[in-house]
Amino acid sequence: MPQFNVATLLQEPVGATRRATLEDEPLAVPAAGYTARASGSVELIRTGRGVLVRARLRVRPQLECARCLSPCSVDLPLTIAEEFVPLRDPISGATVAADADEFRIDTQHHLDLSEAVRQYEQAALPLRPLCREDCAGLCPVCGQNLNVRRCEHEAEPAEPWQGLAALAERLRSEESDGGPQA
Ligand SMILES: [Zn+2]
Ligand SMILES: [Zn+2]
Repeated sequence: MPQFNVATLLQEPVGATRRATLEDEPLAVPAAGYTARASGSVELIRTGRGVLVRARLRVRPQLECARCLSPCSVDLPLTIAEEFVPLRDPISGATVAADADEFRIDTQHHLDLSEAVRQYEQAALPLRPLCREDCAGLCPVCGQNLNVRRCEHEAEPAEPWQGLAALAERLRSEESDGGPQA
């Protein structure tokens, strides 16, 4: 877990810094059903309110190719800069107020990067991920994955919506297979 214990850092003056390196670290946000692995460098800097996290990470989310619908993974660099605010003041123990969308350090002084990585990854995801730049997509007529094998309908040029049409077709036929009339 990229979870840092910042109990000592929170006792130090503003500007105090810790550095860490993540090597294929597992992350998880169970409530969001999110898991990932991250590599890169992390800097934790004591601020007036809490800890500023500056991280340069790489994640490789598993996506679906927009053309052929095969699973594919993309290499996503993330540059994170977020201040984490403790739930309790490290000296007085008093509750510290923060906005609902701010990241928090829990009462055990654990700073967990998982949710921040999840949010940054979400924002960085490509709208149309491709398994490869020249992915041939699905045949609009029969749904054949043209990266694997050509089919007899080859003449048509590949259009972005054709893969979707083939998918819709496939879903329709799956629906009627499983429907009450079947
Ligand atoms: Zn593809
Ligand atoms: Zn075909």
